[in-house]
Amino acid sequence: MTAGRPLRFFAYAWGEVSEDLAPTQFESVKRLGALGFKVNPEMVLAKDVDRLLAHYAHVGARRSDLGYDIDGVVYKVDRLDWQERLGFVSRSPRWAIAHKFPAERATTTVEAIEIQVGRTGALTPVARLRPVTVGGVVVSNATLHNQDEIERKDIRIGDTVVIQRAGDVIPQVVEALKERRPRGAKAFEFPQVCPVCGSHAAREEGEAVRRCTGGLICPAQAVERLKHFVSRNALDIEGLGEKQIEDFYSRKIVREPADIFTLRRRMSAGAFDLYSYKTKPDGSRALGKDGKPIVTNKKSIENLFSAIDARRQAPLPRFINALGIRHVGETNSRLFARAYGTFSAFRNAAIAARDRDSAAYEEMLAIGGVGELVAQGVIDFFGEAHNRAAVDRLLEEVQPQEMIAAADAESPVAGKTVVFTGSLEKMTRDEAKSRALALGAKVAGSVSAKTDYVVAGADAGSKLAKARELGVRVLTEAEWLDLIGA
Ligand SMILES: [Zn+2]
Repeated sequence: MTAGRPLRFFAYAWGEVSEDLAPTQFESVKRLGALGFKVNPEMVLAKDVDRLLAHYAHVGARRSDLGYDIDGVVYKVDRLDWQERLGFVSRSPRWAIAHKFPAERATTTVEAIEIQVGRTGALTPVARLRPVTVGGVVVSNATLHNQDEIERKDIRIGDTVVIQRAGDVIPQVVEALKERRPRGAKAFEFPQVCPVCGSHAAREEGEAVRRCTGGLICPAQAVERLKHFVSRNALDIEGLGEKQIEDFYSRKIVREPADIFTLRRRMSAGAFDLYSYKTKPDGSRALGKDGKPIVTNKKSIENLFSAIDARRQAPLPRFINALGIRHVGETNSRLFARAYGTFSAFRNAAIAARDRDSAAYEEMLAIGGVGELVAQGVIDFFGEAHNRAAVDRLLEEVQPQEMIAAADAESPVAGKTVVFTGSLEKMTRDEAKSRALALGAKVAGSVSAKTDYVVAGADAGSKLAKARELGVRVLTEAEWLDLIGA
């Protein structure tokens, strides 16, 4: 693809050369030109600062006619032996300096403020502008970043605004000209619901971004959510990858997780067809001896259906992870699965925990590793009726398994608090953690008097020192693996 693009460059500098091209910058570049490289015809040799500035002004005036984008000019010391003596400060040369042009600005009016929903559910306001030319480019919209930005700059529909385009950055709204504000222009009210799916849009404390909570059903997020749902750490459905999800979604065969499990039924009922048929030169389907069309990929489709069926009894942590609840990934899904044992208990707790004074909320926060942010993600998710309905539809097809705690009780590390530090050899830190969690241990990030074991790999630092100070039992990686019987 890159080869197909009309990429060209001007040679401004050189890398390794066996001998200097010339004693000066200017002559070296000329020499590169003589050797056949394209060099910039705007390059000049200036004798003093006034001439540099005059050239800066000259290039600035011609900027929009150059045929390519620039954001300034660069001045370089001409003599290469002086360049060498001046040297570098970290990676910046002392013998070259960029003189940037001011960002190009223009004035226009805001015709509308629209909210875009990204694939992570983030609501981003965009100003639709009366088209205006800035630096040779017609600009008709500009990002407003988020709710705070609109409030801080007090940008309203109908306002005359100054916009700027710096380099290749998306145009920004610099300010609203208040004196030109139309009478009656009202402050913009940021929506509390997702404009795409109508779900509640929540804003976490300390976050500038408001997000749609309709993760399972929001079309703006659906494809990404579905990809996550079938991914390796979630339901892990073999043969159902990102490509198939995109294909099924665009053909409207799969819009939400439950649809994956009804594929076979709906196909049998003739709602759609996933098979590919052998065709004759005239385009008609080739028929076999039995008079039925010859199916060329029957086996792969049957395999896909079997792989889907194999996940109807999903392990609880995978099932929770698959839902894509904000802040609830693999580790937290396991914590919830262990704490609640069944999906219905988890869900009931999440719904009850909406009341901050409830025992359910208190219990959720009492789960080691679950903080307020995670709890909020869970509460928001189940607080959204659209999500509850999508989960209900999913539960008609999938029975998440109960989490069996029996094996854990026998584990020598069940209920113990473990801290991993240093680099481990046999596994990554994440693998070690999930292994420990699976055996019923609690994994903490810092050492305290409550820590039972510190597993110290190579180059363990302050945590190891702290453990020794507190008299916490320190294990090598090998001793730990011994202890858990690995
Ligand atoms: Zn939405």
